[in-house]
Amino acid sequence: MRILVANLGSTSFKFRLYDLGAPGEPLLARGAVERIGSTEARVKITWPGGERELTTAIVDHGVAMQICLDTLSEPGVGVLRSASEVAAIGFKAVHSKDHHHVHRVDESLLASMEAFSSVAPAHNPPYIQAMRTLAKRFPSLPLVAAFETDFHQTIPEATGRYAIPDAWTAMGVRKWGFHGASHRFISWRMPELLGRTDLKLISCHLGGSSSVCAIRNGQSIATSMGMSPQTGLPHNNRVGEFDVFALPVILKETGLTLEQALNTLANHSGLEGVGGAGRDLRDIEQAAEAGNARAQLAIDLFVQSIRHYVGAFLFELDGADAIVFTAGIGENSSTIRSAVLRNLEWFGISLDTEKNQATRGGETVISTPSSRVPVWVVPTNEEIVVARQTRDLLFSAGS
Ligand code: ADP
Repeated sequence: MRILVANLGSTSFKFRLYDLGAPGEPLLARGAVERIGSTEARVKITWPGGERELTTAIVDHGVAMQICLDTLSEPGVGVLRSASEVAAIGFKAVHSKDHHHVHRVDESLLASMEAFSSVAPAHNPPYIQAMRTLAKRFPSLPLVAAFETDFHQTIPEATGRYAIPDAWTAMGVRKWGFHGASHRFISWRMPELLGRTDLKLISCHLGGSSSVCAIRNGQSIATSMGMSPQTGLPHNNRVGEFDVFALPVILKETGLTLEQALNTLANHSGLEGVGGAGRDLRDIEQAAEAGNARAQLAIDLFVQSIRHYVGAFLFELDGADAIVFTAGIGENSSTIRSAVLRNLEWFGISLDTEKNQATRGGETVISTPSSRVPVWVVPTNEEIVVARQTRDLLFSAGS
């Protein structure tokens, strides 16, 4: 059974194609299309034993998908016998007002995502538009939205609720949590690596956006993100934790509209806003090394916030069986990992300086043998989670 997992931006489309019916659930192909909407869109598709790159006019995500499926169905490529061999498309969808699990994409789901477009402004609008385009172009292909919030539905009310009136909570104003596919992957993978399921895990997904999650026995019980993906840790360009009562002050002092201020918080804050050295941690680290104090401050603020949540979740979980770093920064930045876990020997956590030099690609223990809490680097695989969730919704018994 071939499931395609799509990752969408407003002008980009990335995909992975899995065969979930075959042993080991092999990745059959992956690809990326950039500059959709232009006459010079770039397509790159790779499969075992081959790759294709081309530049062409692509008007929308539907055409982008068609080109990818046609390429994979060419006799010389042979990944698919025909485009109709794809059983479904799964989307790592972010947020919706009324849908928080894994759902077929239909008009009611799209309306529910639209209702929360202002809550997830970087994600919902491009997803809604692309889902509509794909539904029109491929009417017989099931589209499935696996929401990032799904994994966090197990968070107890006392942790997941804001201290606000009931009526507001009933509107969906609560801590939803995100990066659910990544934290779920960690919750699946760590029992395989440690050989037991009764685990207390602290999962640190640190990337373009970041969150820390407390996982007990495979279930999320707390996470750093709240109502929107702009909350919790500072992100590459999103603010992270912020006091709403600062907003009226900002509006009064700057003359900005609410919309403009929210745009700054959602697009020009976080590491970029503080450091002034771009939004990619590699650039910020380089600037800090060259003596840029603002860049160093952005890093310090990021690290402090991660430590805040790791500390809180050690309490929440009554200890931990492992701390796990994952995603672009978590898997690659030894300096962030060592800064986050510095001076924690009292808690039984000590990093091995040499092992901590591990870079992306491997599952590695980076703590010392005497560390009571092992620290791991585990590459995440959000796409396989979405692929399996899509299969389970459409094809498991009773569906
Ligand atoms: P996403 O943007 O979807 O979160 P990733 O999880 O891959 O994707 O995270 C991307 C981020 O990872 C980049 O913005 C960059 O800041 C960071 N990153 C990638 N490689 C490194 C590295 N070697 N050192 C530090 N940060 C890195």
